[in-house]
Amino acid sequence: MIVAKFGGSSLSDSDQFLKVRQILRSDPARRYAIPSAPGRRHAADHKITDLLYKCHDLAAYPREYAKVFGEIRDRYINIASALGLDIDIRGKLDEIERRIPLEPTGDYAASRGEYLNGLLLAALMKWDFVDPSDCVWFREDGTFDSERTHLDCSRLLLSREYAVIPGFYGRMPDGSIRTFSRGGSDVTGAIVARATDADLYENWTDVSGFLTADPRVVENPRRIEQITYRELRELSYMGATVLHEDAIFPVRKAGIPINIRNTNEPDHPGTLILPHAQGEPLAGITGIAGRKGFAIIVIEKAMMNAELGFGRRVLQAVEECGISFEHLPTGIDTMCIVLHQEALDKARGRLITRIYELTEPDSIEIHEDMALIATVGRGMVRQRGMASRLFGALSEARVNVRMIDQGSSELNIIVGVSGQDFEKAVRAIYSAFIDAPR
Ligand code: ADP
Ligand code: ASP
Ligand code: MG
Repeated sequence: MIVAKFGGSSLSDSDQFLKVRQILRSDPARRYAIPSAPGRRHAADHKITDLLYKCHDLAAYPREYAKVFGEIRDRYINIASALGLDIDIRGKLDEIERRIPLEPTGDYAASRGEYLNGLLLAALMKWDFVDPSDCVWFREDGTFDSERTHLDCSRLLLSREYAVIPGFYGRMPDGSIRTFSRGGSDVTGAIVARATDADLYENWTDVSGFLTADPRVVENPRRIEQITYRELRELSYMGATVLHEDAIFPVRKAGIPINIRNTNEPDHPGTLILPHAQGEPLAGITGIAGRKGFAIIVIEKAMMNAELGFGRRVLQAVEECGISFEHLPTGIDTMCIVLHQEALDKARGRLITRIYELTEPDSIEIHEDMALIATVGRGMVRQRGMASRLFGALSEARVNVRMIDQGSSELNIIVGVSGQDFEKAVRAIYSAFIDAPR
């Protein structure tokens, strides 16, 4: 039995819906489908989810949001009428337009993109429609309640032979709608796969698998055939946005493989994500991913290594400012805190003052607008010559490395470089490991 999640670009217009129907029909084992909201049809297009958030923001301001809502309305009506679907999409749209200004957060508005697409896909397939507001649960503090969700999703879905369940949202104990973070339909797909004890979780998108680097940075990167859950977690957390970074948890628990597939090239095998992959990756590494938008605070103090509780006091300052840090590479007399630039911007004065008060350092230096790049591969840390190849490539490309963190997971080496050097650095690492022969 297969659970199939379809991303926004896979359901962006009526032609894409027909491709999805063809995929679902071609294998009766595909019993549960999770749609996202309509995505972009071309580079300059809008994602429905973005437009829905915009409507909420305008309504809260308060400003006129009817024009933006009109764009949303047209998209859905066009899909429904081109497919000849007999559902009251206008009535649903009217109700949503009325309710948007009454909701305190943007979650309700945003969730309606998936909700409406779910109704359309269920009508097209003539499958049952299951609303995640009846079976995907969040706790009062907003965190996802996985066990309650698991029980209710199992109960509601397994009693149906074929069903469509929209991605991205669920419900709070007070009855209000809550969404996962952006890209969260991948998480819903994984939840459904676990709840129905699927043999496979297919994730249908607009690329033929997980690539060794972001195709927007490296031209035509090589595909990854097989990858482990742990490698995937590292790559998606570090910016390979093809799959939501939290989507592996439900399926990992149950050992269900994920298959990334391309809706526009349905015969392509894509990428398989497994508990344990076969053999070593071809290039010695599995992939490269990175993100901009980090800051690095370097704290220096002579004899720091001998000072009892120094690390704890630094982290106390970070915690008091409500910041969660990303990495914490340390030297003998230096300690670096890597954090999101946004978090630093919000708490800069207080954070630096508290670090001074609590640790009395010799100096504090802040590097802003940095990028982190992770080079990931199972067992790579144990292979000889990997680090020298990595740093050789960066130095040849004249990229200055500000921070190095060789993760204790033995899975990756992370470097911090200036945001301006990000693309250049990723391409240099790609050429050194994946383009070049071993
Ligand atoms: P969907 O709407 O189907 O969920 P997303 O836009 O969330 O699709 O994810 C697919 C996109 O992820 C691709 O179009 C690609 O631009 C981007 N991407 C970034 N890194 C990678 C990578 N390593 N492999 C494949 N795609 C990647
Ligand atoms: N539609 C939502 C978003 O754009 C969720 C998703 O696509 O997975 O973030
Ligand atoms: Mg996505």
